[in-house]
Amino acid sequence: MTSSASPASELPAPTRCVDLRSDTVTRPTRAMRDAMMQAEVGDDVFAEDPSVNALQDKIADLLGFEAALFMSTGTQSNLCGIVAHCDRGDEFIVGQMAHAYRWEGGGAAVLGSVQPQPLLQQADGSIALADIEAAIKPDDAHYARTRMLALENTWGGKVLPMKYLVEASTLAHQHGLTTHLDGARLFNAAVAQAAAVGSNPMTEARRIALCFDSVSVCFSKGLGTPAGSALCGSREFIARAHRWRKMVGGGMRQVGILAAAATYALDHHVHRLYEDHARMQRLARGLQGLPGIEFESPQTNILFVNLVGPTRERAAELAAHLKQQGVLANGSTRLRLVTHLDISQEDVDHAIAAFRSFLTK
Ligand SMILES: *Cc1c(COP(=O)(O)O)cnc(C)c1O
Repeated sequence: MTSSASPASELPAPTRCVDLRSDTVTRPTRAMRDAMMQAEVGDDVFAEDPSVNALQDKIADLLGFEAALFMSTGTQSNLCGIVAHCDRGDEFIVGQMAHAYRWEGGGAAVLGSVQPQPLLQQADGSIALADIEAAIKPDDAHYARTRMLALENTWGGKVLPMKYLVEASTLAHQHGLTTHLDGARLFNAAVAQAAAVGSNPMTEARRIALCFDSVSVCFSKGLGTPAGSALCGSREFIARAHRWRKMVGGGMRQVGILAAAATYALDHHVHRLYEDHARMQRLARGLQGLPGIEFESPQTNILFVNLVGPTRERAAELAAHLKQQGVLANGSTRLRLVTHLDISQEDVDHAIAAFRSFLTK
């Protein structure tokens, strides 16, 4: 079958694709593929994959935990973490807009019989301490047992203040709750925090992680691997999570190929997150002051752009214009733009020009 020639009315194909939808769209670099090619592998269900074992030791050590477990996705990692903390009939406190509540198909409830207690978040992504305290149920047969507090950092690209993390985890522990961090973008938080306090990202990642009994991190977001997350915690906790990982079909075999990508990413793609953040700053500067849009200043690699006034009615037109210019974003009247490994400074400038040409015409 031959393809027909494009009709004359069809717009020329965009020469550049600037995919700002998510930092999950990154493709593994040449060097990462080489590391994957060279990975020594074994059967990880027998705990015999040296690359997986090395990664698990490395991430546990980096974040200050006894043990870690490689997971296929962040959703699987959060799920296994929640059900390793909570038994049937327990509940966990979580943000109303948190990934682990809103974007994971209700897995903890469906598979673990664990009830979420979602709470409204503050604008900075935190859950007010008073709200947490008020939501912790007394020991009474009417209530689910409140067992755990889950926070997310970064949340919507925002870095939760260190002081808050300490206070929230102290409060949770005082009430006998355990704490879990959905740190899908923990290293983005660490890099931003390191810049703010003049420290280094690994130190900050560890400081953040140590506020929690368990932490889940994603390798497939800003770190740029094709797949994979890790759950970190005590040895006993990880043993419980391991059983759950098996039950939800996450026991993989020669998965050292993916673990090698994650190890490569930890060695080479953490510090470079500064670049993603700097490019996001450049994008925000370029969009600043354009008519019809409003946004809060970005802290890491994510920007939410709200369409306002008459531009709100032109959301579909803007999306079509951006697409025609080869710029992809998520959302309609509230666009999400994300910088990542595959977004260069030129890509950012191209995206700014695409917005400008639409908003100023
Ligand atoms: C992406 C993400 C996850 C996990 O997502 P998967 O697609 O299942 O890997 C969890 N939490 C947050 C905050 C995320 O952004």
